[in-house]
Amino acid sequence: MIEINKVSKAFAQKSGKSYHALDQVSFTVKKGEFVSLLGPSGCGKSTLLNLIAGFEKHYDGQIEVNGEKVRGPGPDRVVVFQEHGLFPWLTVLDNVAFGLKQRGMAKKERYELAYEQIKAVHLSKFIDRYPHELSGGMKQRVSIARALVMDPDILLMDEPFAALDEQTRFILQKDLEEIWQKTQKTILFITHNIREAIVLSERVLVMSTQPGRIKKEFAVQAGRPHDIGDPLIHHLESTIMETLT
Ligand code: ATP
Ligand code: MG
Repeated sequence: MIEINKVSKAFAQKSGKSYHALDQVSFTVKKGEFVSLLGPSGCGKSTLLNLIAGFEKHYDGQIEVNGEKVRGPGPDRVVVFQEHGLFPWLTVLDNVAFGLKQRGMAKKERYELAYEQIKAVHLSKFIDRYPHELSGGMKQRVSIARALVMDPDILLMDEPFAALDEQTRFILQKDLEEIWQKTQKTILFITHNIREAIVLSERVLVMSTQPGRIKKEFAVQAGRPHDIGDPLIHHLESTIMETLT
């Protein structure tokens, strides 16, 4: 569970004036819920995600994860970025097992867990490959496996599929949907793609710029078959589009 209560964030600028990236943002993501965050470029989505991740410590208001104030990064939250950020000198298996090594887990156990996770993202044939030998979609899958292997309560995803072509994006959306249904992880998912937000999540939060605020939220019935011609989706899509513009 993520609880954001009146969170504001200002960045100091050279001019001496501060820039208010977030202004009194409040919302809750319940345990096991899949929430998307939409909003124009620069409205503060990544800033918010970085605060929840604990990467940035100075802010006003309260951020609690599972009832505890966020004081820095923690094993209960893992971030998946648009840039996969894999270690180029490590194989797929070693990339995924890396975080477990940091936790001090024995080799046999960490490789077993990593392999299981690689299988879950359909890459078991590629465990010995290096990142440069993979396609963009595969690299992004490795990065999802690397996050999931840590078994966090919460996945924070910052435009994880933005750099992918339509078809690969679609396949990875399906993968993520399956993972979420199986694991019931709490997911906060940033995207610029309205349809992606509607198809994947249970709730869509729309942010506004200057100052960054939650403008409106939309409930979505996730997990049901979303066919392209579904008039409900079209309706929601255009309503969200209106809110964004
Ligand atoms: P996008 O959709 O383009 O990724 P975003 O909604 O994620 O945008 P943020 O990256 O959160 O936007 O940035 C929000 C605002 O805060 C922007 O105006 C940005 O310039 C500013 N900002 C973000 N990080 C910093 C920083 N470290 N120092 C100063 N200003 C920053
Ligand atoms: Mg961003």
